[in-house]
Amino acid sequence: MVAGFAAVAGGLLGGRALVGAIGTSVTGPAEASTPAVRRGMAVLPPPSPPAGRVAFPLEPTSDCYVLDNFGDCRSSRLHEGIDIIDARGQAVFAVQSGVMVHRYENTGTAGFGWILRGDDGRVYRFFHLDAFTPGIEVGTRVAFGDVIGTVGSTGNDSPSNVHLHFEVRTLGSGTHWQSVPVDPLPLLEVPSGTRVGPPLRC
Ligand SMILES: [Zn+2]
Repeated sequence: MVAGFAAVAGGLLGGRALVGAIGTSVTGPAEASTPAVRRGMAVLPPPSPPAGRVAFPLEPTSDCYVLDNFGDCRSSRLHEGIDIIDARGQAVFAVQSGVMVHRYENTGTAGFGWILRGDDGRVYRFFHLDAFTPGIEVGTRVAFGDVIGTVGSTGNDSPSNVHLHFEVRTLGSGTHWQSVPVDPLPLLEVPSGTRVGPPLRC
């Protein structure tokens, strides 16, 4: 059992009970048309972005903070996404319709995470999730705005380091493993009122 995971077990998201990665609840793929409910509050999916742009991947609180840290130094290579700091349990969205092609089962520094192959030809990665949405499996087709999990800190050095690591990658002709990361921030539809930090580059 993973620390932090049990905290959200039994919560409600998208009308489906949240369980840990080893949970057994499978109720079918998420549907964006179904109003999601969490802690008694409606979860609003992001507005559909203009063509070529990328929707904000989580439901922001007023404390949401976007780090401009694509390309920052990491121990073995450059940081291939941006980090969006927000509260544990916030909904994480499919930013495009597409197919969920890989799930990270608390793997290394990724923790729990997803790779989404979007119908727009891009690949999106979401790391450090606290919980997955039951019923979404590898191979599941998701619609834009579907809740695919919640913000957490799995895979990070500290449980208090709660954020979503978010990557946007161009695919070319290869598999999603051969996709190439691009800086998400210039493409991102950042909600008004959400703060963006100064550039962090090594
Ligand atoms: Zn990161």
